[in-house]
Amino acid sequence: MRVSRCFLPVLKESPSDAQIVSHKLMLRAGLVRQTAAGIYAWLPLGFRVLKKIEQIVREEQDRAGAIEMLMPTLQPAELWRTSGRYDAYGPEMLRIRDRHDREMLYGPTNEEMLTAIFRDDVKSYRDLPRTLYHIQWKFRDEVRPRFGVMRGREFLMKDAYSFDLDEGGARLSYYTQLLAYLRTFQRMGIQAVPMKAASGPIGGDLSHEFIVLAPTGESEVFYDSAFEQIDWNRADLDYSDEAGLHGLFEQVSSTYAATDETHDQALWAKVPDERRRTGRGIEVGHIFNFGQLYSEKMGLKVSGSDGSMVTPHMGSYGVGVSRLVGAIIEASHDDNGIVWPEAVAPWRVGLVTMRADDEPTLVAADRLYADLTAAGVETLYDDRDERGGVKLGSMDLIGLPWQVILGPRGIACGTVELKNRRTGEREELSLDSAFARLAA
Ligand code: ATP
Ligand code: MG
Repeated sequence: MRVSRCFLPVLKESPSDAQIVSHKLMLRAGLVRQTAAGIYAWLPLGFRVLKKIEQIVREEQDRAGAIEMLMPTLQPAELWRTSGRYDAYGPEMLRIRDRHDREMLYGPTNEEMLTAIFRDDVKSYRDLPRTLYHIQWKFRDEVRPRFGVMRGREFLMKDAYSFDLDEGGARLSYYTQLLAYLRTFQRMGIQAVPMKAASGPIGGDLSHEFIVLAPTGESEVFYDSAFEQIDWNRADLDYSDEAGLHGLFEQVSSTYAATDETHDQALWAKVPDERRRTGRGIEVGHIFNFGQLYSEKMGLKVSGSDGSMVTPHMGSYGVGVSRLVGAIIEASHDDNGIVWPEAVAPWRVGLVTMRADDEPTLVAADRLYADLTAAGVETLYDDRDERGGVKLGSMDLIGLPWQVILGPRGIACGTVELKNRRTGEREELSLDSAFARLAA
């Protein structure tokens, strides 16, 4: 993409209405614009990141055997009356009336809708277990929308729902999602620690929040640094390996991690001093087993293998897709701007010409851009007639992992500069080796 033809409004000044660094950077670098309190338009740069995050979530859900579908954002109030949540939900629910005066709502989540779909279409134990998911916009009329996309009112969530015949099956579905989450966040290049969450309406030990460390996080967290060393993509851990999944859950449960809500001083005291990590964290995911709560209330039953009727056990599993854009920036930035992990970067390479009026520089840059693009390397080419320093400044702000800088002096002897945004390391290379390195 050529900057001259893109829509990348970069702000020079730090916006005064943003309190935290990710929100400031998202406004300055032109990722989003607020259109109403807690509601954002995703500009091209932000949209590319959102799509990258969404795609990683999708691939890891698919790999874990979950099946993608799409449910609508608007739901009938009737559906929520059957679970008793229409009245219970409170003012966070945006309630709407259509032209026929029917009560509707903008969905804050989808347990009721999918349970009803299952109730109407699933009749036999042979159709279970199943985990279905969608990636869809949600609306929660938060009292205090703040921190940009981190606590918006309209936000993008991946929500999955599992249906099993018995508790053992439901636990396995839960462990499967637990592993999928750990892999998802690891692929995004962030450290998200699974923390025991306060147990929900039916109690039990099956609820975890996934927390990314950041000073601006809303919860206080305590965890064992052993979590930082674990590779969740271990080849020996397979979704079809039941014993392996139980082992994973044991490992997660026996390594200390808790938010202020579940913190236990006695257990914390047993973590060796040098491994204790405390700080603040952002919740980027939350998984939850709620047994037969919704299936009972909504009359979901299937016939069991012995002909008796069985009430399925369920779980739900959310990832804050749009919140992650902010959370990743909170965890990965420096004084000059965003530092994208490669996996979610909007483009991999930023190509910058230092002098737009130098013909050989332009020719070399045009060719390198064409070659990189042809090789499938996502490249943002700043071809504007602007001062080199200004262009470098906005490249740093935008935070692409690699910068290739072309100037008249280098080009005269056939070289360019390759800069690693994270480390700041610069290297002088021939045009060909720069291409070879980035296309590898
Ligand atoms: P929180 O405690 O942050 O309000 P929650 O517990 O209400 O979140 P869940 O119902 O567990 O949220 O939703 C799943 C995920 O959706 C959360 O882990 C979070 O990443 C994301 N999420 C929830 N509320 C918002 C919001 N207002 N803006 C952006 N993302 C959100
Ligand atoms: Mg939650």
